[in-house]
Amino acid sequence: MPSTPPPPAEGEGGGGGEPVLLTPGPLTTRPETRAAMDRDWGSRDAAFIELTARVRRRLLALANAGDAFTCVPMQGSGTFAVEAQLGTLVPRDGHLLILVGGAYGRRMAEICRRAGRAHSVLETGEAVPPTAVAVTARLEAEPAVTDVALVHCETTTGILNPLARIAAAVSEAGRRLHVDAMSSFGGIPIDLARLPLASLAASANKCLESVPGVGFVVARTDHLAQCAGNAHAVSLDLHAQWTGLEANGQWRFTPPTQVLAALDGALDALDGEGGVAGRFARYWETCRTLVDGLRGLGFETLLEDAVQAPIIVTFRAPADAAWDFQTFYDRLAARGFVIYPGKLAQAESFRVGCIGAFRADTMTHFVEAAAAVLREMGVASGAPGSLPQDRPSV
Ligand SMILES: *Cc1c(COP(=O)(O)O)cnc(C)c1O
Repeated sequence: MPSTPPPPAEGEGGGGGEPVLLTPGPLTTRPETRAAMDRDWGSRDAAFIELTARVRRRLLALANAGDAFTCVPMQGSGTFAVEAQLGTLVPRDGHLLILVGGAYGRRMAEICRRAGRAHSVLETGEAVPPTAVAVTARLEAEPAVTDVALVHCETTTGILNPLARIAAAVSEAGRRLHVDAMSSFGGIPIDLARLPLASLAASANKCLESVPGVGFVVARTDHLAQCAGNAHAVSLDLHAQWTGLEANGQWRFTPPTQVLAALDGALDALDGEGGVAGRFARYWETCRTLVDGLRGLGFETLLEDAVQAPIIVTFRAPADAAWDFQTFYDRLAARGFVIYPGKLAQAESFRVGCIGAFRADTMTHFVEAAAAVLREMGVASGAPGSLPQDRPSV
């Protein structure tokens, strides 16, 4: 019985007996990305100051952000960047409307609660994106709202929210829009020359396919410049981080030097793949291979194809009495594939990520491994039982 996946092609991760991570980050990285970390940098060294400046420029370029925007890196996981974004860019006397369709939207509400920012939520079901009509109506009904927050791809389910339409609605209503683009930036095109956003936050270890440890916020400079003293936390003060970087190119506190070098290397790989458009095409191919393959085994996706992002896919648990998620997980892991448990409010599910340094053939091997594991478990079909009608989760 095979206990490792077939050897990866050149430039893919998951080699040398390491598992392929079909998870939304940390994820499978290229050997070259990890190799870029193999030296030390002094944080005040000219070489590291140049590395920081280069990564900031490259991240702005990925989103086609012109002179109106700046990129401020933030140490930590993605949530640190979101917490810095909301805590700094939503004024202390402002009011944030959060569009909630899953765990990451709910986390934004928790961030506001801790930071003492007035906020309200507009909640949709987990399988239903918010609409521009609903946002417009809510902004008319709630004049106190100054800022709106949207999760671009809600990783809880893998749904792609209609960023352009929501951005237009928020801008027409004269409010600022802040986006959590954590699981889309670098993998799904975002054109800041066309989108009226105030800011977006993302991290290195999702579609940029680098190692975890740094996030960043791309923000309109004119707005950021007005946010001195706003932040609720010293280390998460995006304005102070930005003024420090602008003054001497240095980070205020210990920078994640190797992590930044890995990100610079990962950006080379992204360029080599044809940029965001090339990666977007690869993710769709991987996602199609996954969805078609598991549907062929009887599985059903939570989402309709029209709202599925090519980032992570939620499958409903099979109804077969022989099904057991932990056994499925463990046996796939023994074959070299790590999947992700579901986090749905209403039914048992599991998730499979499409992002990371591997190609569609790796997903074909994953589907074969899943078929073999189902046979071993005696699960005749991946078909789920009936599900209660999708409803807004509370
Ligand atoms: C991953 C992710 C985050 C940040 O999660 P961390 O565990 O802090 O990196 C935030 N929002 C979304 C949509 C994500 O997918």
